[in-house]
Amino acid sequence: MTRNNRGGHNGRVFLVVLVALMCLTSDPWPTGLPAAERGEVALKKSPHAKLRPVTMDEVSWTEGFWADRFRRCRTATIPAVEAGLLHPDNSEQLDVLLIAAGLKEGERKGKGTNWTDGDCYKWIEAMARQYMVTGDLELMRKMHRWIRVIAQAQSPDGYLSTNFWNDAEGRLQMPYFHEMYNMGHLLTAASVHYQATGKTTFLDIARKNADFLHQQFSPRPPRLVHFPWNPSAHMGLIDLYRATGEKKYLDLAKILVDNRGSSPGGGTHRNGGTDQTQDRVPLRAETQAVGHAVCATYFYCGATDVYAETGDGTLLEGLTRIWESVTTKRMFLTGGVGTGSGQSTRGDPVHEAFLDDYHLPNDCYCETCSNIGNAMWNWRLLNVTGDARFADVMEQVLYNSGLSPVNIDQDRFFYCNPLEWNVDRKPTHNHRTAERWLVHSCYCCPPQMGRTLSALQTWAYSIGDEGVWVNLYGGSKLDSELSGETVRLTQTTDYPWNGRVRIQVAACPKTAFSLMLRIPGWSDGATVTINNKPHPDVPDGGAYADVNRVWKPGDVVELDLPMPVRLMESHPNVVANRNRVAAMRGPVVYCVELPLNEGGQKTWRDGVYFPENIEFTPRIDENLLGGVAVLEANALTTAGKERFVRDVVATSEPIHDDREWKGVLYRPLLGRKLSRPEKGTVPVALIPYYAWANRGVAYMQVWTPLAR
Ligand SMILES: [Zn+2]
Repeated sequence: MTRNNRGGHNGRVFLVVLVALMCLTSDPWPTGLPAAERGEVALKKSPHAKLRPVTMDEVSWTEGFWADRFRRCRTATIPAVEAGLLHPDNSEQLDVLLIAAGLKEGERKGKGTNWTDGDCYKWIEAMARQYMVTGDLELMRKMHRWIRVIAQAQSPDGYLSTNFWNDAEGRLQMPYFHEMYNMGHLLTAASVHYQATGKTTFLDIARKNADFLHQQFSPRPPRLVHFPWNPSAHMGLIDLYRATGEKKYLDLAKILVDNRGSSPGGGTHRNGGTDQTQDRVPLRAETQAVGHAVCATYFYCGATDVYAETGDGTLLEGLTRIWESVTTKRMFLTGGVGTGSGQSTRGDPVHEAFLDDYHLPNDCYCETCSNIGNAMWNWRLLNVTGDARFADVMEQVLYNSGLSPVNIDQDRFFYCNPLEWNVDRKPTHNHRTAERWLVHSCYCCPPQMGRTLSALQTWAYSIGDEGVWVNLYGGSKLDSELSGETVRLTQTTDYPWNGRVRIQVAACPKTAFSLMLRIPGWSDGATVTINNKPHPDVPDGGAYADVNRVWKPGDVVELDLPMPVRLMESHPNVVANRNRVAAMRGPVVYCVELPLNEGGQKTWRDGVYFPENIEFTPRIDENLLGGVAVLEANALTTAGKERFVRDVVATSEPIHDDREWKGVLYRPLLGRKLSRPEKGTVPVALIPYYAWANRGVAYMQVWTPLAR
């Protein structure tokens, strides 16, 4: 099957019929080597979205930063997650599916968390995305095997959550049991598998499951009003709606969004009705990001999906208010979200959660799943609106808190992603670890990494009425269509280490269209040339440059984004970062890392301070940490910084009138000229934050004390 019928509801219906015919004429469960056909199901543009994200068969990474990570995801991450899911000491285990399918003796109880199934489906989703690009038959075999098991584990009525597979009475009694988290990820993984393979084996399971959910929830019984706890089902239902065209799945997603916050109070964090699950205030009336940060970002993703299909402006208004709350008061410099445990501003106990405005301590929680949830949400908002500010946050996550969860070899994982690590202090939670691991007491994050690193190429480009939107820079090939005509582009770049991007047109429509080139919010002085001639209209950072013309094959567009090192300061109300600064270059946040086995303890104890006129020299080191740009500088020790401390002009009080800050949370520091110290200096080589903890146990800090 090919993607020739992409781009319209009729095309999608045609493909659905074609697939159905193929299934009638061939065994859907062949016992031998599965057929190798691949094909993307044509997904139309959502009617109320400005942009259509490209589909899996329209784009692939070729070389560079993301291409390397995509490849290692197949060779290292997916096998590592599989090893984790098969490991007897791991919290999540594929065994639960075998037990529920009657293929293995044993008790489901005591094996794995309630949300185990969902994390197994995320692993299958990662394989489907990789298969679409690589055609790797081993992945097809594995998916095939596990989908057969899943089919056997499904109850005749369509219910499928192994924690209650043999307990009909216990089903859908308590939101915290995560049955709908499991089923939500089932719907997404099956929709992706269908798009990647053209096979309906997994999709049939998902439809039966979604039909069960529709039957249960569409009458809106009060006893189910607080379901689900972790709302992957909203996204899953929309994914299934887009794959099948079945409107009742969209209707159910709308119901789930409307239920949230409709019956507040009286609950606990486990059964709903509180801020923990965004269930105290309806989204349409909400003014702040609250509660469990994975639940929150997943809910906001699902509600954005519903907006894209329905155009319900009250949803987008609520989502925009919440986005302002996140990005101006509750997000870390790394794009991470989820400060930790405590109380919501309305007094509900919350955990793994958004907390008060500006409460952004550096030993934060920042769970991998919530950081990536933040990126997923911003990708959706970008496609709905075409507004570059959402692309900025998406990129801020992807190069920082969205990538720190995995090591350079991509086979070990973090759950929490704090912005500092003090070896001398005992971790305050068992999810905060000094080093990454293979098995863990909660295994949601590793498959989240796998499916995201397998999907990012589809975030790189979108198609709009203007033409092609380039959202992420990375070596890649695009093969798409504009108004029914082929457009093919090749992008080459060393981004994020170098801001030069080259895009060559290989094929294009005969009529004029735009290349919409993203000028990141951090950038200043970007230039664009077309066939070596300057393009006049390049906006300031935080917008897309509209490069419109009649293109011809062979045309070359070059974008140059200067990348000076920026010394960042926080809004003064972020108490944790007062008198501290952080270095960024391009989209990458840097940290000071002092590994124990490289004498880090002595340096840590001598102190590391940045004078505000510190000068960094970027140096590409191909052999360090998979190839990175390090930032070399002379910092000050405690002894050295005393020269400066008398000259302190620091904001140390909370400010209540932040007009000067214009609603931003982080901005470049305006430094002053200071004399250079002759002693008390220490050479440092800052590394990208995402690459920390690859050299053994280490002290680490993103925000370094400032000496003035
Ligand atoms: Zn997680």
